[in-house]
Amino acid sequence: MTDMVDHRGPVSLEAEIAGNLGMIAEKIVGATISVGRDPNAVSLVAVSKVQPIERVAAALAAGHRLFGENRVQEAQAKWPTLRERYPDLTLHLIGPLQTNKVRDAVALFDVIETVDRPKLAKALREEMDRQGLNRTCFVQVNTGEEPQKAGVPPNEVDAFVAFCRDEVGLDVAGLMCIPPIDDGPALHFALLREIARRVDVEELSMGMSGDFVTAIELGATLVRIGTAVFGTRDRSSQ
Ligand SMILES: *Cc1c(COP(=O)(O)O)cnc(C)c1O
Repeated sequence: MTDMVDHRGPVSLEAEIAGNLGMIAEKIVGATISVGRDPNAVSLVAVSKVQPIERVAAALAAGHRLFGENRVQEAQAKWPTLRERYPDLTLHLIGPLQTNKVRDAVALFDVIETVDRPKLAKALREEMDRQGLNRTCFVQVNTGEEPQKAGVPPNEVDAFVAFCRDEVGLDVAGLMCIPPIDDGPALHFALLREIARRVDVEELSMGMSGDFVTAIELGATLVRIGTAVFGTRDRSSQ
């Protein structure tokens, strides 16, 4: 394609995204059934970061209500208005959270998937108390122990979850991971499931466009899918 302008009308865009959502839903059902899981036990978090607002609107028009964003500021620019129109939305924060953004994150997101250090856990607790809100929190695990990546190393998760629960009073409902790009994801998904059993949490956020079927086979309860729902992101802005 040389012409970057999207000439299709809102109806065909909506049909395209509804079609993508439908195909993913079918794959979710197929993957759960193949391993004897309940198809309703897996939810699709549509990752709308960097996507044009028309595409997000098309997903909403198609009836989708669960979205993920990786940056607080970007999410703040689009979601408060959309929430007025769609009060039944659920928003997940799936990117790193700086403590100076905790106030905005607690105000905007229903679920914060990326808790990974004591200072952040404490700041979230304080801010939730201040705003009189209880947000669901997951702990991000750096399953590949990559130095540049956020998340708690696998061998520190038990202690960190205990700290969140016992010292901070933060309810940890799940774990999330982003496997290394240059490694097969299955071992990382299996490791996350193993740790989740050990620390007794229900929710497993794992699997993206390229590997969500594997993630579901290994126990994912939430898959975070961007490209396969909305199309390729504009790399110049990400
Ligand atoms: C962008 C992103 C996704 C979605 O990735 P796709 O490959 O586009 O499905 C999932 N999880 C996180 C944390 C992301 O930042």
